[in-house]
Amino acid sequence: MASGIVNIRRDVDDKFYRYRMPLLTTKIEGKGNGIKTVIPNMSDVAQALSRPPTYTTKFFGCELGAQTSFDEKNDRYIVNGAHNADRLRELLDVFIDKFVLCKSCKNPETELVILKKGRTEDIIRDCKACGERTGVDMRHKLTTFIVKNPPVKAKKGKKGNAGDAAAEDGDGNESDDMMTKKIKAEAAELNTEAALAKEDWSADTSPEAVKQRMKALEGSMAAAVIGGDDEGSDEDVNSPYSVLGRWIDETRDDVDDPKTHAIAIYKKAEELGIEKKHKTMPVIVQALFTDDVLKQIEGYTPLFAKVVTSEKHQKSLLGGIERLVGLAYPDLLPVVPKILMAFYQADIIDEEVVTQWGTHVSKKYVDKDTSKKVRKASEPFLTWLADADDDEDDEEDDE
Ligand SMILES: [Zn+2]
Repeated sequence: MASGIVNIRRDVDDKFYRYRMPLLTTKIEGKGNGIKTVIPNMSDVAQALSRPPTYTTKFFGCELGAQTSFDEKNDRYIVNGAHNADRLRELLDVFIDKFVLCKSCKNPETELVILKKGRTEDIIRDCKACGERTGVDMRHKLTTFIVKNPPVKAKKGKKGNAGDAAAEDGDGNESDDMMTKKIKAEAAELNTEAALAKEDWSADTSPEAVKQRMKALEGSMAAAVIGGDDEGSDEDVNSPYSVLGRWIDETRDDVDDPKTHAIAIYKKAEELGIEKKHKTMPVIVQALFTDDVLKQIEGYTPLFAKVVTSEKHQKSLLGGIERLVGLAYPDLLPVVPKILMAFYQADIIDEEVVTQWGTHVSKKYVDKDTSKKVRKASEPFLTWLADADDDEDDEEDDE
């Protein structure tokens, strides 16, 4: 039996796709008429989707015409009959498409909302990424179950869109995922320790405490994500880049002090032996930045100043930005000039490199269309850069 974590959208091949879930596993119990399929990690999978595990289990039942049963206290989710894992994984893809992904932008960060319409109800996917509210197919049998067992509201605050970042942030932290919480708690501790240790960037004499804490953090993630199966450890999932990406992703939301976090990221990359690799750049960009990137960049410029050490690194950084704004947060396209400006003014990207990048479409990081779109979006910055250059030349000519 394979185990590991997979992209929530299994049709997305990008290993740095932010939204991941444990691969669903199955276990056949009983015999004859009493044979049943237990889904040992149903609640972990459902949690990654921000849906109750009863919904997914019931969905399998509806699709397979099978009885289902759940024992939430003991975390047992069962579909009667013998069903193989691949079939259930395919059905899970269907569930995700019908009841999780935003119909408009295909982002999985949605919440199910039940709207009363006279005597009937509508179930809406309320998208946190693009703000669209798209209805689910009310002809599906599962909708009856959802209406009878409405999702429990566990939200503290609602995250604003990219544009209105000024909205009260408070302690607004949208993730309810238990694993994430655990990791955040540990990361918070790590940050404190790192801060107390007053680490210097170049110091390779990191205190044992910090090291231990990182190991523990890493261990708890691996244990939580990868389950107890030895077989099928996925090369990609376990590559140092993936490990770093997940680590950043899981630790970034509770950051009080970006500088401490930046140091912790550098240390983590160092520990993984990839702090000097140009391939680390897109990982950091994609895992670290969100739709709030403009605010975030400022706190992390020292990190980029540290890791971007060559033209190749700059290009990789730009590749990461392409993925961030082209794939993960298309709403950010209009702010591409500002993002580039921020990196340019911090002396992290050079004029020649960014100009060369901006005038050459490439399929290295994203598909061609996306690559074009990102470059098109960057035009105001490139024009500004060229003009600034002309002015300089004029001055020189005058002398
Ligand atoms: Zn959306």
